[in-house]
Amino acid sequence: MTARMGTARLGPAERSTALEQMAAQELDLVVIGGGIVGAGVALDAATRGLSVGLLEARDFASGTSSRSSKLIHGGLRYLEQLNFDLVREALQERALLLQRIAPHLVRPVPFLFPLTHLGWERPYVGAGLVMYDSLGFSFGFTRGVPGHRHLSRTRALRLAPALRRTAFSGAVQYWDAQVDDARYVMTVLRTAATYGAHVASRAQVVGFLREGERVTGVRVRDLETGTERQVRARQVVNATGVWTDDIQELVGGRGQIHVRASKGVHLVVPRDRIHSLTGIILRTEKSVLFVIPWGRHWIIGTTDTRWNLDRAHPAASRSDIDYVLEHVNQVLSVPLTRDDVEGVYAGLRPLLAGESEETSKLSREHVVAHPVPGLVMIAGGKYTTYRVMARDAVDAVAHGLDQRVPPSCTDRIPLAGAEGYQALWNSRQRLAQASGLHVARIEHLLQRYGSMIDEVLTLIERDPSLACPLSGADDHLRAEVVYAATHEGARHLNDVLARRTHISIETFHRGLAVAEEVAELMAGPLSWDAEQVKREVEYYTKRIEAERLSQEQDTDHEADAIRLGAPEIVPVATPDPV
Ligand SMILES: Cc1cc2nc3c(=O)[nH]c(=O)nc-3n(C[C@H](O)[C@H](O)[C@H](O)COP(=O)(O)OP(=O)(O)OC[C@H]3O[C@@H](n4cnc5c(N)ncnc54)[C@H](O)[C@@H]3O)c2cc1C
Repeated sequence: MTARMGTARLGPAERSTALEQMAAQELDLVVIGGGIVGAGVALDAATRGLSVGLLEARDFASGTSSRSSKLIHGGLRYLEQLNFDLVREALQERALLLQRIAPHLVRPVPFLFPLTHLGWERPYVGAGLVMYDSLGFSFGFTRGVPGHRHLSRTRALRLAPALRRTAFSGAVQYWDAQVDDARYVMTVLRTAATYGAHVASRAQVVGFLREGERVTGVRVRDLETGTERQVRARQVVNATGVWTDDIQELVGGRGQIHVRASKGVHLVVPRDRIHSLTGIILRTEKSVLFVIPWGRHWIIGTTDTRWNLDRAHPAASRSDIDYVLEHVNQVLSVPLTRDDVEGVYAGLRPLLAGESEETSKLSREHVVAHPVPGLVMIAGGKYTTYRVMARDAVDAVAHGLDQRVPPSCTDRIPLAGAEGYQALWNSRQRLAQASGLHVARIEHLLQRYGSMIDEVLTLIERDPSLACPLSGADDHLRAEVVYAATHEGARHLNDVLARRTHISIETFHRGLAVAEEVAELMAGPLSWDAEQVKREVEYYTKRIEAERLSQEQDTDHEADAIRLGAPEIVPVATPDPV
């Protein structure tokens, strides 16, 4: 269908091979952490010709990188803080991602900025947006999104009839971009694997190999089997986000970087609950609140509060949910209630610990440190600038390798599925006819897989029952579940419902109504027996029950205690005999 280089799969066989190959040689580099930063580092290193392995303790993107606002943006409020360099860098990345690196995954999104103060506010916001738009031009690229425009209240209400007339006096509309954060990470990892990186999830780093002071590799535990292995590497990169300090403790000694967690909660509501053709951005006392169009839904958030509790499963409390509802309801003519909320998710910002106590003022810039020979730490930053973070980390790695390493080239490396995407998009009617699927389905598939759509269509050709939508989550075809297990590294039910799709936050049943069907579909490719299917569904059900109950609690401590009541994920295989 398209002329493209075969893209690596991240199926179960490839995972086993990756773990074996990592243990069988001395790598140039091993990366700890499979969020966006670790994934970016693996791709940057592989495309510079280095041998690289990446180890992720849970599922890819299961930390912060699946729980963000899903915006690729410069950050209007950093402009207000006069941090022009940060904004320029992020907007140039936005242009690159939209137009070259991932046009199939990153899309423009409009926001309305309602004005509430007559007089000074329009010129103030307008001047900021003139600068925001002009900083977005990148060398050799246009901005990739339309420019801002001023609107009267009447025109703004035509775009967003849901706004309460008395809540604002006029508006300015501007554009940013959005991405499916979890799928993007997985796509970066597939791209890295295509260039030779060895990639494994459910592989937790539990210790370091040392020669005197020097770090010479890691000890890794395969969480599916309980087996431990050594992975030798000339350099190790710690890209573990809010777990940075834990890894630092494993090395021993005082670290140079400290990362603090700040919790951000988002709500998901159905699209028909807010009548608007545009996203909306609102000022809050501390920061901003986004109302973001998201397929057939809106994502509304976020909060910003300090978090010292469980980092693997940050819990949203009743107060978090009420905070978001209260703020969005200030501008809506028909207020939202808790009954409108389909899904809730909480994420932890990895903030570089600074002097200030206010988490929303802590630095969003990243740092690279070299605490001991053989180890590079990268932390801070934001999703939008992952490629720059990765480049800086691999530059530090190159410094520690006694060989010449070429400069980063990821600004010229389209992600898997990007090549040929535009031509396929233009041919979507023809693809619909050839496959027998509705053109809306083809569009949905193209925006998830880009030119890898042919792999999904091949599954359907072989088994036409996979062309049916999931009963109870009909945005997705049954084929997408099978593909997630065979090609996209999904190893557990949770991985498909929470990250390869977002059914767990996009349906009122939160995935429970499709859990059995999805587990049955995964059983074949992952060689599960009936017992494992049952365990997966039980685990998922308990997780959702615990999450729902935690969201009824008033405080973080109560919510955290309840969320921790759900059991941890069940391994697939029995431990290897010792
Ligand atoms: C609420 C919220 C909204 C945000 N919105 C935006 C936005 O709209 N745009 C934007 O640009 N940025 C946004 N951000 C910031 C952005 O999401 C983060 O900066 C980014 O996702 C961090 O990625 P990471 O790879 O550093 O961390 P993570 O994604 O957390 O990855 C770290 C990984 O390390 C793994 N790990 C930990 N310990 C080990 C171990 N011992 N062995 C192996 N693996 C291990 C973890 O399991 C985890 O997967 C937002 C953040 C939050 C919280």
